[in-house]
Parts: sequence; C-alpha cells; structure tokens
Amino acid sequence: MNYCIAIDGPAGAGKSTIAKLVAKKLEFIYVDTGAMYRAMGLFFFENNLDSEKQEDVVKACENADITIEYKNGEQLVILNGENVNGKIRTEEASKMASKVAKVKEVRVKLVELQRKLASVENVIMDGRDVGTQILPNANLKLYLTASSKERAKRRWKENIAKGIECDLDTIEADIIARDEQDMNREISPLCQAEDAILLDSSTMTIDQVVDAIIELYNTHK
Ligand code: C5P
Repeated sequence: MNYCIAIDGPAGAGKSTIAKLVAKKLEFIYVDTGAMYRAMGLFFFENNLDSEKQEDVVKACENADITIEYKNGEQLVILNGENVNGKIRTEEASKMASKVAKVKEVRVKLVELQRKLASVENVIMDGRDVGTQILPNANLKLYLTASSKERAKRRWKENIAKGIECDLDTIEADIIARDEQDMNREISPLCQAEDAILLDSSTMTIDQVVDAIIELYNTHK
C-alpha cells in the first residue's frame, strides 16, 4: 500500500520547503498541489479568461492540459506542453491561483489528477484540502501554520534573496487576503482536518519542523 502524508496550511507557512526536504529523506514523491492551481490561473490569465464566467471556465477546463513530471526529483508543471515552473511563482500568479481555486469545475479536474499521482507512489502532498478532500485516508495528516507576520517575513526574505524588490507590509496584507479567500470559499475551504496534527512553525527552524515530521512518520508507520 502507498503511504501518503498530507500537509495543509495557509500561504507562506513553509509547506513546500518542508515537504520537499521530508520527501528527500523518506524517498517519497513530493506533490505541490498549489502549483497546479497556479498553472490553471496562468491559463486563465494568458487566454484572457474570466473565472466568474461559466463559458470561460468550461473553455479552461477543456483546453488547459496540466500534467506533472519529475526531473532530478523536482516537480515540473507542464501546461499544454510548456514547463511553466518559472512563470507561476509571481505574486500575480498567486492571486490568480486563489481566484480560480474557488471554481468547482477547476477543483474537480485538479483533484482527479492529484489523486492519480497518490495512487501510484508514496507521496507527501501539500496544499489546502489534501487532508480534508484529496486524500481523506492519508496515513499522516499535518496542519502547518505560523503567524501572518512570520510568514510575510519569510516571503520577504525569499524575494530579497532573489533580487525582487518588495514591501513587507504589502506582502503581509496579500497573505492575509489570500488566507481570507482560501478559508472562506464555498468549496473545499482551507481548514484543519479533524485528525490532522497541528504544527505551528512560528518559532521553529526548518530543520526542527522536518525532524518533527520524520518523528511523527516513524510513530505512524
Ligand atoms: O500553495 P500555493 O500558495 O502555491 O497555492 C496557491 C493557491 O492555490 C492558494 O492560495 C489556494 O487558493 C489554491 N490552492 C487550493 N487548494 C490546494 C492548493 C492550492 O485551493 N490544494
């Protein structure tokens, strides 16, 4: 049987950084579900589609072919044959992703793909609804969070390291707005699954969180 670890939590909690490291240690496949919503958001954006118009939603679901490939352990998101990893990490793409993630048809399409990935490999999957919707029977469920101030600070540092000019308060406001949308949408809102373990990383280092998860895995094998 495949082993599945589900990690959910708000934007900027460190889910992907942590999940990638845990995946490496356990030799699991890492599945970044947010990247798929980002790719879908990019499709809407590049094709001038409006996620509030039904005909545009149908067009996007029919014509956006999203697949996942792995190269040297890194997840590549392929949108209609193009590797879009480089295009989906902007603040703009984050906002587009949250917008299209509210649409039922988009979620149905992506959840099917996400479940398929988990059916063939041991996975650690991160997102907003992994423990509640995608993999309700996951072997280990975690809810990773941190204060909005701390999460904004981390994003700010990442951007500065990449040479991207940005303002800490604007980043925090964007994070709070995205949490609002993700937690209050009608379909699959972000929430902690009843059987998920809460990890607040506000005062923890990356290594401490990784070690905590490995320890939990060892006790949930
Ligand atoms: O995790 P990441 O920040 O890349 O996700 C981008 C957006 O995609 C989130 O803000 C959320 O709106 C949406 N998302 C989702 N369900 C998931 C993963 C991401 O709704 N499983």
